[in-house]
Amino acid sequence: MFALHNIDARKWNFNPAHLIQLCFEFNTQLFFVHAFSRLVKTSLLKFRPEDKAMMGPIVYHAVAEVRESLDDHRRTIACEAPIITSHAYDCINHEQCNDDWYAVWWNGMARYLLDGRHPLSYDEAFKRFELLEFGMMGPGCKQSMLALVREGAAFRHNTRFVETTGMHLLEKLIPS
Ligand SMILES: [Zn+2]
Repeated sequence: MFALHNIDARKWNFNPAHLIQLCFEFNTQLFFVHAFSRLVKTSLLKFRPEDKAMMGPIVYHAVAEVRESLDDHRRTIACEAPIITSHAYDCINHEQCNDDWYAVWWNGMARYLLDGRHPLSYDEAFKRFELLEFGMMGPGCKQSMLALVREGAAFRHNTRFVETTGMHLLEKLIPS
């Protein structure tokens, strides 16, 4: 239907709770997962009663659960710096390299992810993290550890988990 594709093209201009309501109303899957992913990024405290009414209790409940899991996951990642399994040839002092890596992880990545007032997303946190000074870390070690974090499953888990949950919910609520 033309109207739906029109909405889909402009979906970023719509309130995501409203998009969910439109999916139910027009029995379409078109922008459900998109809307769900955006709802999950919103603090539950920001939802107005009308937002909750539009998305309905099942979606609201799912959003709350996903947020809870993501918070758990975020805390786990923040507290477990990736281990340097092998040092690069240009790394002079392995012990110092390890110490500096853990220190920068803890003072940078962990702080960005756990900040009480303004916790950053993984992507945002990584963008700041990679610009930090890494003390006496070997340049090769720094490069390979940043690549590991950038490509790490821990970082991809986030988006994939939200999309998969959104898709399961969609199949349950609006079967194709
Ligand atoms: Zn090293």
